[in-house]
Amino acid sequence: RPHIRLELQINLYGDNDRMIVAKDVTRLYQLEQMRRDFVSNVSHEMRTPLTVISGYLETLEDNADDLPPKWRRAVHTMSTQSSRMEALITDLILLSKIEIGEQAYDDHLNDVTGILEKIVHDAQALSGEQEHVIQLEITDHRWLRGDEGQLRSAFSNLIFNAVKYTPAGGTITVTWSADSAGGQLSVKDNGIGIDPIHIPRLTERFYRADPSRHQDTGGTGLGLAIVKHVLLNHDGKLDIRSRMGQGSEFICHFPANRLVQRKPEALTPNG
Ligand code: ADP
Repeated sequence: RPHIRLELQINLYGDNDRMIVAKDVTRLYQLEQMRRDFVSNVSHEMRTPLTVISGYLETLEDNADDLPPKWRRAVHTMSTQSSRMEALITDLILLSKIEIGEQAYDDHLNDVTGILEKIVHDAQALSGEQEHVIQLEITDHRWLRGDEGQLRSAFSNLIFNAVKYTPAGGTITVTWSADSAGGQLSVKDNGIGIDPIHIPRLTERFYRADPSRHQDTGGTGLGLAIVKHVLLNHDGKLDIRSRMGQGSEFICHFPANRLVQRKPEALTPNG
């Protein structure tokens, strides 16, 4: 299928000439498609051998007492690294599915409160002994039309990031609200913050604000790319506000036509 891009070109220096240029971007589109297929195929092919390796490493770790002491540390490191690689592959597969757009999209009415309560609970577990204070504020109870799996991964990436990039004891506030313009999910932390020069590029795959600060957060570098694509699939957009050393706020905006008032009798589990 041919893909044509229309561009409006304005001559800034000369007269008021305007030109509409039609460009054939079919080849570019095909290359992008090939890149996506390649990443998706490689990720799937790597998953099986990695599952086998991780399985054996887990068994070795469970029986660490039988291992010579110098091997215990090595097995532990291998096990940690193979978990990281599994997380990376899971995110790569997820991102390539989400990038395809409509094909992976499942249109449902979602209870945002329920989704957020579960993620906040998991985030508290992730925080563990760091004892972050994670607050959930819900001011709108309408349902959000969209793909539950995609929304879950976008929201959990933002909330888990807030935990990862906020020092122990910090506060994270998750707010779901709505006005006539639509619904907003805000995830606000008082953590390390982000230098403004990085903000425009944060949703690129593997872009990190400051790699030296992130060696031990265990992230895949794909979280915000996933968030961006989930929002694109839901006609939404992401706003990022941050101050170095003071904290960050990530806001997902959803248009009003995605918010649905449910009749009380329809409020049964699983809809
Ligand atoms: P990662 O796996 O590295 O966390 P993400 O795509 O989720 O990848 O985030 C990209 C980068 O954005 C992170 O490496 C970090 O530099 C920055 N970042 C994301 N969330 C926050 C936050 N709440 N506070 C500070 N920096 C953040």
